Amino acid sequence: MNLEPKKLITYTYYEIGNCNMCQAPSIQFKVLGKRLNKSQGFKPHLLSGITTTVMKCNNCGLIFSNPQPVPDSIADHYNVDPKKYWREEYFKIDENYFKGEIEWFKRLKPFQKNLKSLDIGAGLGKQMIALQNVGFDSYGIEPSPSFYKMATEKMGIDKGKLEMKSIEEASFEDEFFDFISFGAVFEHVYNPNEALVKALKWLKPGGFIHIEVPNSNWLSAKIINLGYKLRRLDYVTNLSPMHSPFHLHEFTVDSFKLNGIHNNYKIEDFGYYVCPTNLPKVFDPILRPIMRKTDTGMQLCVWLKKAE
Ligand SMILES: [Zn+2]
Repeated sequence: MNLEPKKLITYTYYEIGNCNMCQAPSIQFKVLGKRLNKSQGFKPHLLSGITTTVMKCNNCGLIFSNPQPVPDSIADHYNVDPKKYWREEYFKIDENYFKGEIEWFKRLKPFQKNLKSLDIGAGLGKQMIALQNVGFDSYGIEPSPSFYKMATEKMGIDKGKLEMKSIEEASFEDEFFDFISFGAVFEHVYNPNEALVKALKWLKPGGFIHIEVPNSNWLSAKIINLGYKLRRLDYVTNLSPMHSPFHLHEFTVDSFKLNGIHNNYKIEDFGYYVCPTNLPKVFDPILRPIMRKTDTGMQLCVWLKKAE
């Protein structure tokens, strides 16, 4: 029997003074409730764990934790066990992969050959390949050594086009790219405003940034939170700042609209994806049409255009 206590990840906690996206002062923040460092289920008050406070910016709707726990080693969050993770089907590229987004991009910008694209958090490089196949000159950055290895060795991505770096570490020429994508990354960065400032510097005037993030008005989260509230429990389901999948922020269209005033871009288009409801399937026929109609699906997709 092992009687050694299990060591948990250690964090440094930062107090948030202004909204990261719209810069509103903390007087505009509202407490939503507490979030445990694990899956909460229906009885979070009966579980042991560490909590942080989840807040919402009343000015732009951004949801964030305050204080914000930042792991002393980022690798504690993103070290994946390759044996658990790599299954053969992950390496197959569906012919429709990223097709909807490419069509959407073509509607926004007259298409030319050899447009330069950057995928931030390229993973296995599937999006780089999809863009290359339709004529883009595609680049990427990926901080995880295991993903980088698989992308370059198994998926055949050119090492000259994919760098093993995080956005914080990467550097490119100013005004180099026509299209930059934050596929499943933006909700994982600690300072989304800073990530955007950096990406915008690399983007040509009139270029586009594509971002997909968790919607701060997701109906399923509101229903689960109401369930806690009716039982007078001080918990919310939003975010996962200290456990997988490590979502640090949830966003609204206003978060980007107001951030764009400071950073010189406009929202050219946006849309919502319903995705799985994460509630018992029996409610799907009622909830999915409501989500579609009221823009309360799980994911928000925005297309940002840098001022010309
Ligand atoms: Zn805000």
